[in-house]
Amino acid sequence: MIVVGLTGGIGSGKTTISKCFESYRIPVYIADVEAKALMNRSKVIKRKLIKLFGEFAYKDEILNRPFLASKIFTDKELLLKMNAIVHPKVASHFKRWLKKQDSPYIIKEVAIIFENNLEKQYDYIITVVADEDLRIERVMKRDDASKEKIVSIIKNQLPDDEKIKKSDFVITNNDLDTAKSQAEEIHHQILQIINKKD
Ligand code: ATP
Repeated sequence: MIVVGLTGGIGSGKTTISKCFESYRIPVYIADVEAKALMNRSKVIKRKLIKLFGEFAYKDEILNRPFLASKIFTDKELLLKMNAIVHPKVASHFKRWLKKQDSPYIIKEVAIIFENNLEKQYDYIITVVADEDLRIERVMKRDDASKEKIVSIIKNQLPDDEKIKKSDFVITNNDLDTAKSQAEEIHHQILQIINKKD
């Protein structure tokens, strides 16, 4: 099975573009969504996170995301420890999911690929980019977040030009219709590459 990574900075439109691929009947695994679900579902993860962050890691049995986010944003060590708890579980969940798919290729949406040198896990990588002012505007609207907060997250991520250099495909999501047609073109290109290989 061909695994295509779909990545991009905050607010670039990864999930929006993932939906395009879903509309072409390509299965999409959104790592962030699955990680969150596992953090709520898995008793082992829950126990370890409470040990790491304290009782406020969960509120009424539900993951207290704002609390965790505030803790890990300023403490890289804590972020690494949390990832060491969550990532292996997501990886095995993804493996099981992958086995069940019957499709020429699948899309795995992941916010961080290059930052953690995980390129080798993917056959191809698509990076979604968009102008910074648009990304800020979109996330401010979606999350009711402050501009300063979003800018500090962007500064923490690998710059788009670095990501582009390492990608097989790039989608520019300033205008949705243009981005959709780029996604469709890439979908056909990937199918062509796969067909040639067979
Ligand atoms: P994050 O990194 O925060 O998970 P993301 O890269 O997955 O974000 P989306 O959630 O797809 O990005 O998009 C961010 C917000 O911008 C959403 O509210 C989405 O509806 C909106 N959006 C995405 N693309 C466009 C576009 N081309 N035009 C207008 N709004 C858009």
